[in-house]
Amino acid sequence: MKFASRLVSFDPAPGDRFRPISTPIYQTATFEQEKADSFGEYDYSRSGNPTRSVLERQLAVLECGQRGFAFASGMAAISTVTKLLRSGDQILADNDLYGGTWRLFSKMPDRTGVTVRYADACDPESFEREITPSTRLVYLESPTNPMLRVIDLRKIAALSHKHGALLCVDNSTMSPYLQNPLELGADIVLHSATKFLGGHHDVTAGAIVVKDPAIADQVYFVQNAEGNALAPFDCYLLLRGIKTLKLRLDCQQRNAQAVAQFLSSHKSITNVFYPGRADSQNYEVQRTQARGAGAVISFTTGSYEISKAIAEQLELFRITVSLGSVNSSIGLPGNMSHASIPP
Ligand code: PLP
Repeated sequence: MKFASRLVSFDPAPGDRFRPISTPIYQTATFEQEKADSFGEYDYSRSGNPTRSVLERQLAVLECGQRGFAFASGMAAISTVTKLLRSGDQILADNDLYGGTWRLFSKMPDRTGVTVRYADACDPESFEREITPSTRLVYLESPTNPMLRVIDLRKIAALSHKHGALLCVDNSTMSPYLQNPLELGADIVLHSATKFLGGHHDVTAGAIVVKDPAIADQVYFVQNAEGNALAPFDCYLLLRGIKTLKLRLDCQQRNAQAVAQFLSSHKSITNVFYPGRADSQNYEVQRTQARGAGAVISFTTGSYEISKAIAEQLELFRITVSLGSVNSSIGLPGNMSHASIPP
């Protein structure tokens, strides 16, 4: 089935005798059990909820994985991945990450004895030299937020596995329409579903998809134990947004390509970072591992004042911390999404 068909051709309500075409919101915290010693499919919504199950199945299908999980935010999903590690383990992360991920990595894993180190994953040879015997997880985004650097996922997956580490890829800037990291060798793919998956900036959500049942069990354990799953109404909103993912991104990509072209010929712009430009870093890698360049662009002007003036004077782009919505957004990452990263 083609991707556009997969987006809308799923069972929206398994087992529902009314056969609704849209997934009902099972707004219930708990489910009655017939017996006190044998339980039905659902008992408590932290552990499982029918609206969430439909969404999680759909996430798994779209990311070509075995099991999907929906979380209260992208950060909740990222935090869950860090909980798969134990004291003494190490995360080796790429050095261009969303600011919130850096903030989490800089303080939280340390509390359970997990260390985080950074290296440039755009250079697989030097990155491999940074892997140590305690590296259990390699963590990266591609293209990265905000520099839109493309990392060769096949190469990094191979070298992670060679050293006994899992590879986790944050696929938020691409969405499953444009890139499927599990197919390229990653073990865990995650999303800030607040971005392209939701697509309307009306829901904060996160997603994890894995292919290995043992890893899936561990992710489920954390989701259930910590209670960080996405609520039923938000699952419904996300399911609704996902249906138009292809239509939105096709249009957004066309617009992004035109904006990147315009910026690159503008006298006030010193650099344009967009993986759809033939002169962009790792352009050929992007073409072999993704089905498009996406709709996120970053650029520099060489002057804080000019950048600020551009952001503030645009009419259609609003100054917002996020990306991937039907609205056009602009921001100064140093002040906003990446403010927690030191200069
Ligand atoms: N990953 C990336 C690439 C992001 O841009 C963001 C948020 O901007 C996140 C993760 C965190 O997701 P959330 O804001 O849904 O918690």
